[in-house]
Amino acid sequence: MMSWCRKGTTPRGLFLALILLAPAATARAGEVDRLYVIDCGWAHATDQSLWSPGVNSGAPIDFSDNCYLIHHNRAGYLLWDTGITDRLVVLPNGVTVAALHQTWHRTQTLLASLAALGVKPADVRYVALSHVHPDHAGNVDEFPDATLVIQKAEWDYAMTLPQKPFSSEHKKQLIDGDKDLFGDGSLTLLSTSGHTPGHQSLLVHLEQTGYVVLSGDVVHFEANWDDRRVPEFNFDKAQSSASMEKIARVLAAKQAQLWINHDKPSSDARRHAPEFYE
Ligand SMILES: [Zn+2]
Repeated sequence: MMSWCRKGTTPRGLFLALILLAPAATARAGEVDRLYVIDCGWAHATDQSLWSPGVNSGAPIDFSDNCYLIHHNRAGYLLWDTGITDRLVVLPNGVTVAALHQTWHRTQTLLASLAALGVKPADVRYVALSHVHPDHAGNVDEFPDATLVIQKAEWDYAMTLPQKPFSSEHKKQLIDGDKDLFGDGSLTLLSTSGHTPGHQSLLVHLEQTGYVVLSGDVVHFEANWDDRRVPEFNFDKAQSSASMEKIARVLAAKQAQLWINHDKPSSDARRHAPEFYE
């Protein structure tokens, strides 16, 4: 039998030998080194209470809508959500979603925003979606080479929709539950169903900024988070509440910031591309 302790090997010599044998010990750990917040549209609605049942009935509200371009030192670019369709850019009056009394606008296309950063669609290796609603999945097919990262339950739901949010042929990685995406703790997908059947959130670890949770539509604005309100139109109310509690536990455990995508005041206060977070 082979032995580590050959005759004459000192404990110190053995220790050094083990260090030299350790395969990945000297490799740089995988990490997210940059996060850009990109304006991916905005909306005006005339009745806030559709999102907060029984509260602020008839009060108008504006929504932000961001995409997040994340650079990982080994995996390359990942785009979290793609915003409302770029086609809105040529419609000065936007498009109204009648059921929500909500009108959507886009000032600049996602592709133009990426180009301004020197990023081509082919440079984006992963497109990860919180969920498949049009204000998040509007431009997926602009990235035909990217792997779509989505919960399996959300993919299944998308494929039942009469109008598919993206090509059913898209290259994809289907996720079932929580997942440390690159196995290094830099990007962790969190299953947060409720708004839709397979909604997910993303826990991002940045070296200087620390942990940030990109929560998709787990909650739409600050007051709804404070009071844990669930919009009437969510897919499942109990799941929605449980997902908010799950996010709250992650925030506490990681001392993480919660970035509520559609909360316009906090979104406006954030640095947007070309500035970035490290
Ligand atoms: Zn949304």
